Amino acid sequence: MVQINPSILLVDDEVPFVETMAKRLAKRDLTVDTAFGGREALKKLDSGGPSTIDVVILDVKMPGMDGLETLAAIKSAHPNVEVIMLTGHATVESAIEGMKGGAYDYLMKPCEMDLLMSKVNEAVDKKRAHEAKILDARVRMHALRRES
Ligand SMILES: [Mg+2]
Repeated sequence: MVQINPSILLVDDEVPFVETMAKRLAKRDLTVDTAFGGREALKKLDSGGPSTIDVVILDVKMPGMDGLETLAAIKSAHPNVEVIMLTGHATVESAIEGMKGGAYDYLMKPCEMDLLMSKVNEAVDKKRAHEAKILDARVRMHALRRES
């Protein structure tokens, strides 16, 4: 099976932060897309098909649709996509709420790249293992139907 590069959607309202992080992540062999707010992120997820984006890195504090609202919308429309929340000291509780709402994990800003990369890789592995299980279940279901 061809293992394609993990695909990341980075969502944060701070434009310079997004640009710097996107460059750093791309250097580490990730396919990176960006959004500067929750609605833009959802549009990108909706238009990309179910398996295009593996992991969303999501800022907690954003004007308009905040990180928790965005997380809820992502998890409802794209339950297999893993989400890592990014937070400052003031919003750690929101990040923990996010984990209760299905986020894979959270990281404090400014983020340490090695730590972020290890969490991204873990989240990608989790998503792909889950997708493989679903595929396997489908194959078994078809095999059962052929027998009957
Ligand atoms: Mg922000």
